[in-house]
Amino acid sequence: MSDVKILHHGATTGVTGSCHELFYSDNSSVLIDCGMFQGAESADRELGESQIDFPLDAVQALFVTHCHIDHVGRIPWLLAAGFDGPIIATEATAKLLPLVLEDALKVGVTRNKRIISKVIARIKQLIVPVPYNTWYQPFSDNRFKAKFRVAGHILGSAYIEFQVNKRRVTFSGDLGAPYAPLLPAPKSPYSCDILVLESTYGDREHAKRRERKAQLRAVIEHALKDKGTVLIPAFSIGRTQELLYEIEHLIYRSQSRVWKDLDVIVDSPLAAEFTRHYREMSKLWDKEALRRKRSGRHPLAFDNLITINDHASHQKLVSHLKISARPSIVIAASGMCAGGRIQNYLKALLPDHRTDVLFVGYQAQGTPGHDIQKYGPRGGYVYLDGERVDIRAAVHTISGYSAHADRSDLVNFVRRIYRKPAEIRLVHGDKEAKQALRRGLQAVVPETKILIPTDQGSSN
Ligand SMILES: [Zn+2]
Ligand SMILES: [Zn+2]
Repeated sequence: MSDVKILHHGATTGVTGSCHELFYSDNSSVLIDCGMFQGAESADRELGESQIDFPLDAVQALFVTHCHIDHVGRIPWLLAAGFDGPIIATEATAKLLPLVLEDALKVGVTRNKRIISKVIARIKQLIVPVPYNTWYQPFSDNRFKAKFRVAGHILGSAYIEFQVNKRRVTFSGDLGAPYAPLLPAPKSPYSCDILVLESTYGDREHAKRRERKAQLRAVIEHALKDKGTVLIPAFSIGRTQELLYEIEHLIYRSQSRVWKDLDVIVDSPLAAEFTRHYREMSKLWDKEALRRKRSGRHPLAFDNLITINDHASHQKLVSHLKISARPSIVIAASGMCAGGRIQNYLKALLPDHRTDVLFVGYQAQGTPGHDIQKYGPRGGYVYLDGERVDIRAAVHTISGYSAHADRSDLVNFVRRIYRKPAEIRLVHGDKEAKQALRRGLQAVVPETKILIPTDQGSSN
């Protein structure tokens, strides 16, 4: 497959910084994603001010698989480095992308409103929304075209099939788990020559959805017995909406007063905005979610749901929950407690034994979330914003709420490709995950060359 050139500018050593370059002629290429490096990986990179450490001379366009920050976070720097081609994405991603980047700039780069609105205005000018399942030809060169396919990971997420000369090259982006709530599972492409495949959970199998739901119910019921608050740190995009969807179902099914009276509070303007978009674009939901909607339920806008937007209401609620004993669930960002409004809740409520903290997502080393998860059950403490906070709250973890396909799902995605790829490149995963997935895939597609690329395209 040496006739198709692909370079990797990120997501080769870990899960962040996704950015790949696909050449459709000797001196013309497109980028697939331009994500931010996060956590330990960003410390390793030493990208400096520019964040873009590769030449852009050949790059004619940017294709975006979905709007998680590890896939789109470097777009402002891409523009600063001189890129002014089209940013091509699904219709939903096109709507969500400016919101995500605006939030990221505010939180991580500058509070200067003028600079932010200038960057966002430019991004809006460059965005080209493209429907799913339709071949799109961005340039006059008709040997190159692209098609977005449903990835089932977050709203608007896609994997992208490219036709380059006579080759079919597919970039998986992030693939959703088949039994994740709300969004439909991805269907494999019919044929593929080269597949660039994510491997986040290449070495793990998720708990089944029924078990997860039972666990969620048990933890919440236990927590509500002593009338305390249940704090759920969650990312605004995807995870928050999945939780709301599951909680609505638990309330709907339950006969008990506790559930019917429960306040479910989403304290995050970004999450609220996203939830609104999820509701508006219900045509992208899966069959189960649509069935609930047709039967008159509102899976993402039920009666118990309260949304907090402005900062004053947020502060009021934090102090209210500290003294009141009203059973409630608070969902707030960030998902790993490394910032955001969840920190104020934790500071106020972690020392209270009536509080329950429930983790539903991965907590990376070095984050407060990781410390609470590790030391909380032993009555330890955590530093939040430089302040020592004692943990008397109960701490629970439910694993398996993941917007990512697990090992079997990834293997099945490849198994179901009718005309199998000659080459698979594993990206977006830790070393162990990639190696485990490679072994899993070798059993299914023994003829396929499975590469673990390093940066800039070389493989081993
Ligand atoms: Zn993602
Ligand atoms: Zn990702």
